[in-house]
Amino acid sequence: MTSITRQEQRFIGKAKTVYASSEVDKLIMHFRNDTSAFDGEKIEQLDRKGLVNNYFNAFIMQQLESAGIETHFEELLSDDEAVVKHLEMLPIECVVRNISTGSLVRRLGVEDGMDLVPPTFEFFLKNDALHDPMINDSHIITFGWATQDEIDQMKVLTLRVNEVLKKLFSDAGMLLVDYKLEYGRYNGKLLLGDEFSPDGCRLWDAETREKLDKDRFRQGLGGVVEAYEEVAHRLGVKLPN
Ligand code: C5P
Repeated sequence: MTSITRQEQRFIGKAKTVYASSEVDKLIMHFRNDTSAFDGEKIEQLDRKGLVNNYFNAFIMQQLESAGIETHFEELLSDDEAVVKHLEMLPIECVVRNISTGSLVRRLGVEDGMDLVPPTFEFFLKNDALHDPMINDSHIITFGWATQDEIDQMKVLTLRVNEVLKKLFSDAGMLLVDYKLEYGRYNGKLLLGDEFSPDGCRLWDAETREKLDKDRFRQGLGGVVEAYEEVAHRLGVKLPN
């Protein structure tokens, strides 16, 4: 059992709150039930969502660690809290897509549901007020949001995550359509931070293409947490009742 304790609030995001802890290089991430879409314009409380995402994220981060991808995840602290390394986060979102949908289709006018070979890779600036605009390597270098070496690492790591997770979901009867990752610096290294949960990826049933992710919330389809629990169940993630 860990003896780490929660201290002052450091950061409040749309679905998580980050706290300082009794250990100087560790933070505590609290997964709330708040669910938001459209840059925070639509917000609802969904019972059990924090718990499900906390356990789900822990499972995925451990799978990635086992595959040799370093992450900030340390351990579960409670049903809706995890201990993580204190990273210096980069203000960048990395998105990989295996199937066309969402903003890619809106921006480029391509058909929805196409297999993307090779998968696409995109950078976005984390900035709700600007609706997370798409950026490129040149913007990142010029404005100092990351170094060239970090850009190269984000691309390599995000695509390695794709190989690991595409197979994991496919073996459980799901398609990993797309996902967003964020990275941060820790002792001179770039580690995977933030979370991986159905809030930040798209997962479709492999047979029916039924949506099992936050698009259920965005599109008002209902059964949001039920779908997240179904994904967890298929992967063998144990959730408390
Ligand atoms: O909206 P878009 O199609 O660009 O989203 C691509 C992927 O990145 C989706 O899985 C979405 O859930 C995720 N994403 C996210 N947070 C954002 C933007 C996108 O988790 N701010």
